[in-house]
Amino acid sequence: MKDNCNRNIDYIRISVTDRCNMRCIYCMPEGGIKPVNHKQILTYDEIITICESLVRLGINKVKLTGGEPLVRKNIDILIDQIKRIDGIKSVTLTTNGRNLKEYLPRLIKAGLDGINISLDTLDSKIYEKITRRDALKNVLEALHESLKYDELKVKINCVPMLETDKEDIIKIAMLAKNSRLSVRFIEMMPIGLGKNYTYFSEDKIITILEEAFGHFEAIDDNLGNGPAHYYSVPAFQGKIGFISAISHQFCEQCNRVRLTSDGFLKTCLQYKNGTDLKSLLRGNLGDADLDQVISDTIYNKPKSHDFNENHENETYEKDNMSKIGG
Ligand code: SAM
Ligand code: SF4
Repeated sequence: MKDNCNRNIDYIRISVTDRCNMRCIYCMPEGGIKPVNHKQILTYDEIITICESLVRLGINKVKLTGGEPLVRKNIDILIDQIKRIDGIKSVTLTTNGRNLKEYLPRLIKAGLDGINISLDTLDSKIYEKITRRDALKNVLEALHESLKYDELKVKINCVPMLETDKEDIIKIAMLAKNSRLSVRFIEMMPIGLGKNYTYFSEDKIITILEEAFGHFEAIDDNLGNGPAHYYSVPAFQGKIGFISAISHQFCEQCNRVRLTSDGFLKTCLQYKNGTDLKSLLRGNLGDADLDQVISDTIYNKPKSHDFNENHENETYEKDNMSKIGG
């Protein structure tokens, strides 16, 4: 599936819920958000119908996200169903890790290929300040448990803020030294509540890490689904990666679209562009028409984001990441 910029779109992030059991300061307000009515959330059958169409069009990698995907009941059943679609290459999931430990056996049984665990700090007090939950211990236990499954790819997603302590960044990176996981540092994007925080740039993080660990060697391998680029570091078991939407714009290589939990096919994080697939599906759209609508929507994917623009307009996304899926 090519879009109008000749980019190959082969990856979708599907948000299965807008609800979450944490309240990260850059993602959700303390009192939560007004949740979408359950009836407006796509059912698993609807998600499968959309996935089947996406696969017919050439998408073969799916990431389940949210809100917190593990608060949606029986997510393992959805994983199992997506894995069974002929043409799917991988199904992965991004989670805050709070409920992960008890869920892991079911996720593995369903055939989950990889897991991204969000972890911005290893300091329990700061963790509680960021997530407004006392859950670091649970998350670290889940991380430890995940690494026991050799077949499961494990990544840490860390979104440092300008106030993040240098030592904390080094400690997070050390996770990739001591075990087979990759750590990705993500630049905070000015979306929703993220606008209230300043991003910690890739260049600054590399300077800190090279001082601590020596030279970082950029590697060519595409280790994941999308825009992260990676470095190998001497004596590290895992890799260090960066998703730098602000300082190293990656739109030319963008291969992804997003589906929100209420069924909107969204083609770029920064803009509202896309199509309300739920309304069309519930109006009994047939497979061929669904393929056409999805293909037209993806074709019209915006050329690039520009988070450095300091003006706002009505085409810009106003929702928080918890609604969009990150
Ligand atoms: N609840 C799950 C989690 O935290 O992994 C999945 C959804 S969350 C929206 C997905 C990812 O988006 C998390 O790694 C989170 O840190 C990241 N995120 C949220 N707001 C962001 C922002 N403004 N800029 C960059 N990343 C953000
Ligand atoms: Fe929830 Fe993930 Fe957003 Fe944190 S980043 S509030 S865990 S959806």
